Amino acid sequence: MILGIESSCDDTSAAVLCGTEMLSNVIASQAVHMQYGGVIPELASRAHQQNIVPVVDTALKNASVGVSDLDAIAFTRGPGLLGSLLVGVSFSKGLAVANNIPLVEVNHLQGHILSHFIDIPGETVPHPSFPFLCLLVSGGHTQIVKVTAPLEMEIVGTTIDDAAGEAFDKCAKVMGLPYPGGPVIDRLAAQGDAERFRFAKPSVPGFDYSFSGLKTSFLYFLRDRVKEEPGFIEANINDLCASLQKTVVDILLGKLVRAAREFRIRDIAIAGGVSANSGLRKGVTAEGERRGWRTFLPPLKFTTDNAAMIAVTGYFRYRQGEFSSLSVAPEARIENMLSGE
Ligand code: ATP
Ligand code: FE
Repeated sequence: MILGIESSCDDTSAAVLCGTEMLSNVIASQAVHMQYGGVIPELASRAHQQNIVPVVDTALKNASVGVSDLDAIAFTRGPGLLGSLLVGVSFSKGLAVANNIPLVEVNHLQGHILSHFIDIPGETVPHPSFPFLCLLVSGGHTQIVKVTAPLEMEIVGTTIDDAAGEAFDKCAKVMGLPYPGGPVIDRLAAQGDAERFRFAKPSVPGFDYSFSGLKTSFLYFLRDRVKEEPGFIEANINDLCASLQKTVVDILLGKLVRAAREFRIRDIAIAGGVSANSGLRKGVTAEGERRGWRTFLPPLKFTTDNAAMIAVTGYFRYRQGEFSSLSVAPEARIENMLSGE
């Protein structure tokens, strides 16, 4: 019985899993950042402090589990915002010491990838077989990861500048859309013509990505058109969103297809916040049908930050006897895909 705790960014979450089976998953999202158009670290940290006790309480109650039933507490050690991580790490340590429960640290990115192994009671959730490739696309990361075992992962490609989610959010801001812009672009794109506008795609060697050029060219394109025609953005918002989304999805899939071919891997998964994007979900499904992949799309509730993915990763580490000491500290940046070390 594992309690998972996630506090790396602006969602406070707690989940209880029995092995890989999810008994509860509670998420408190912080609305306070919306008015600022981005996450304000100090406010995030304070909101985590307010939320963590009721969120953990509710997760235990929803699972009908008491603290004394827990075999381990799994928490996000990083990467993320230091002040936010600190709340989850400190709370986990306190609960562990007070109740003599082992602690297991979890890499947030491994969590996103292993969200494919969360079992939901009463539902059949297909799991990828090893080795599989995972396109991890989130607010802070864009990577192609080769996964050979639950805890054996290798980054084979990564963005050299912005993440895909960041590109969505920044382009949305330029169009005057609210934060986070990714889901808003997704919604508007559904009514737009994706072939209407063309944006340059970067040329980056290997399996790496780049999104900063797209963001800049999008900004200049809009600036020029608005000069000619005030109100251009508002009049064409759906087509702009659809065309932008198609460009991002094409870039993402281009490298994923090459990596799948190069590594001769046919189990292909996507994970992270941007894996909720309907254009990406459709695109990867279509590529999979064309190429004979088994394609794995995470349930929408596991695409953005949640503690169930931290608990399932904690379960795999617990099984291997990988525990953390009380001196463990949060890490804002973790470069490799292993735990925190
Ligand atoms: P990381 O996991 O890299 O530390 P994070 O935890 O902040 O970053 P996530 O919560 O996984 O990131 O994802 C948030 C990102 O996902 C935001 O950039 C958001 O715009 C994007 N996103 C969420 N839903 C969609 C969608 N439907 N289409 C496009 N982007 C989306
Ligand atoms: Fe995340």
